[in-house]
Amino acid sequence: MDTLKNGLDTEIKFLKGVGPKRSKLLAKLDIRYIRDILFHFPRRHLDRRNILPIADLQVGQNATIVGKVVTFGVIKVREKMSIFNLILQDESGYIYCKWFNCNYLSKVFKKNQEVVVSGEITRYRTEKQLATPEYEILFDADDTETIHTGRIVPLYPSTAGLHQKALRHAIKGALDNHLSELSETLPQWLLHRHGLVDLHTAIRQMHFPDRESDRQNARNRLAFEELFYQQMMCAQRYYMMRERENGVVLPPAKDTILPDFYKSLPFELTHAQKRVISEIQGDLEGKASMNRLLHGDVGSGKTLVAISAMLRSVENGYQAALMAPTEILAEQHARKVIHYLDPFQVHSALLIGKMRAKRKRQILSDIQTGVTRIVIGTHALIQDQVEFHKLGLVVIDEQHRFGVLQRAKLREKGENPNVLVMTATPIPRTLSMTLYGDLDVSVLDELPAGRTRIATRWTTESNRYKMYEFIRREIDRGRQVYVVYPLIEESKKIDLRAATEMHATLQADIFPDLRAALLHGRVKSDEKERIMQSFVKGETHILVSTTVIEVGVDVPNASVMVVEHAERFGLTQLHQLRGRVGRGEYKSYCILMASPTVSEEAKERLGILQSTSDGFKIAEQDLRLRGPGELFGARQHGLPELKVADPFRDQKILSLTRKEAFNIVQKDPDLKHSSVQMIARILETEYKERSNLAHIG
Ligand code: ADP
Ligand code: MG
Repeated sequence: MDTLKNGLDTEIKFLKGVGPKRSKLLAKLDIRYIRDILFHFPRRHLDRRNILPIADLQVGQNATIVGKVVTFGVIKVREKMSIFNLILQDESGYIYCKWFNCNYLSKVFKKNQEVVVSGEITRYRTEKQLATPEYEILFDADDTETIHTGRIVPLYPSTAGLHQKALRHAIKGALDNHLSELSETLPQWLLHRHGLVDLHTAIRQMHFPDRESDRQNARNRLAFEELFYQQMMCAQRYYMMRERENGVVLPPAKDTILPDFYKSLPFELTHAQKRVISEIQGDLEGKASMNRLLHGDVGSGKTLVAISAMLRSVENGYQAALMAPTEILAEQHARKVIHYLDPFQVHSALLIGKMRAKRKRQILSDIQTGVTRIVIGTHALIQDQVEFHKLGLVVIDEQHRFGVLQRAKLREKGENPNVLVMTATPIPRTLSMTLYGDLDVSVLDELPAGRTRIATRWTTESNRYKMYEFIRREIDRGRQVYVVYPLIEESKKIDLRAATEMHATLQADIFPDLRAALLHGRVKSDEKERIMQSFVKGETHILVSTTVIEVGVDVPNASVMVVEHAERFGLTQLHQLRGRVGRGEYKSYCILMASPTVSEEAKERLGILQSTSDGFKIAEQDLRLRGPGELFGARQHGLPELKVADPFRDQKILSLTRKEAFNIVQKDPDLKHSSVQMIARILETEYKERSNLAHIG
């Protein structure tokens, strides 16, 4: 019994009613100590006060039903299609539930279990039914206790073998015996100012709310806390970086080539480019090093902005480095930089992994001695052997492709160099506040003049030959075409074969008179380069590829993007792919080929792409459909994972916490004042260890 005195940090197996066997199951849910189970919040609640009798259900209604399993079985409809049928009964009647291709459910359900199902009531012949409802098993047939009625019951995320009842009892026990040992994590004045409930109330009501509004208040309080501490970290980083006046200062140079450089371009800079360039130059002149995110939709012309900043660094006698996520992209940037800067005699070089040793040695030595002023590369740039002479600016392209540590590593190649990170994944404002809360943000919100909207259409196999005819017409007009295949880790081999076969068919049967090339991850580096070059030069008409071309590739003459199995891509990814065309003066098209049996959600995605080309709108929709975690991986950004808060849903709370946090840190950066000492302590003990402490950049 002695162990129990340590309370919250006691191993979960010592909690009453848990024991060694259940504690193993709980470990699968990451519950190891009593403290953990208090924070194991329900996935949802079942309001037993509003459950309808089966007899009263109406077709078209969204309903939750509790009943007993009468019987179930699998019917094979045809090859690759079976239906799992289950009959559920309550005192008033029975209803059919069915799931497609879910034979494993025979192992999940048992007769006489009490089950809750929710979904839309539809009609099947003369019967009412629920097709693919969500389900939860409440009790097994041999459980004697009946569930409490007339209250809101929590339903927890669980794992096989661990029943809701057991989990519920364990949590109830932990709340009754240990909740009082938990200390408050927000100061009184902050709770008071925002009308938030205290921690004990919040946790109790998260599990067993008396009313829906109590649950909501509990959730809001916990979301506030998470976002508040996250913003505190952002604020601390923000002020820390700006206070340090030890950055590389890059003032305008006396005989600058920048005006000549702009004049040499075949086009005018957009207003947005001019504005962003001056924002960046403002930073570069300052004593603190720049820490800026440049955010612009595909095709908005970020590369040019980067080049102009790099030139500023070069003119001040410093070097600049540009890191891109793929070799293709790095090579493309290098070609551009070399092309643009050719008249100005700025020595630039490409550094990628697969270069020949001798060549690489030469490049490394030129970087070290400072002969090379601009270095463009992939991850190869952050290897130990790479030493810069005097690094003044670091640019990271498509930054979401890099982890925090990789970005930090490049920065460490210089002494507090200026940092510009660029992304084409448009991020809704609220989310960028949580992910990049410590960066200054510039937005390129204007596309170069003359770009027309990319006509987008999704279609199915029946139109394949029409699609081929369309491709042919465009190529006859002198344009080029991309055909992209998904490449998903689990089915890599099959996908690769599909792309290879497609290339063979296109070349041999459909377009024997044209040149089609195939590009994928396994193609060797110099071969890749050759294929890309030939496409850039217009010698290849059709480029069949896996998603290696997803980011950044720029061939203005390409006017058609065909995406095969478009239903397998996410919205943002499709938007990126589409951005590979429409980069020049030609009217461009995106054809999304989907399988005829796509899910409703996939149809929605394809419909969204068809209806809008606004990257921000698409990102918002993507966020809505997939949730922020999956989309951006907060972990990667060095922020603690959010358990309760959702920066998308909780936009209001987010702005409140941001204001509070930045206010506090601005007034009292070291958190010395007594009113904020508690915040400092919680930040250190609870939050910083949960986050990855490396800096963003
Ligand atoms: P992204 O922002 O997607 O990285 P890029 O920098 O690759 O876009 O630019 C896309 C294309 O637009 C390139 O071909 C580039 O040369 C061209 N471009 C950039 N700025 C302008 C401009 N102001 N006017 C016309 N074309 C431009
Ligand atoms: Mg780019």
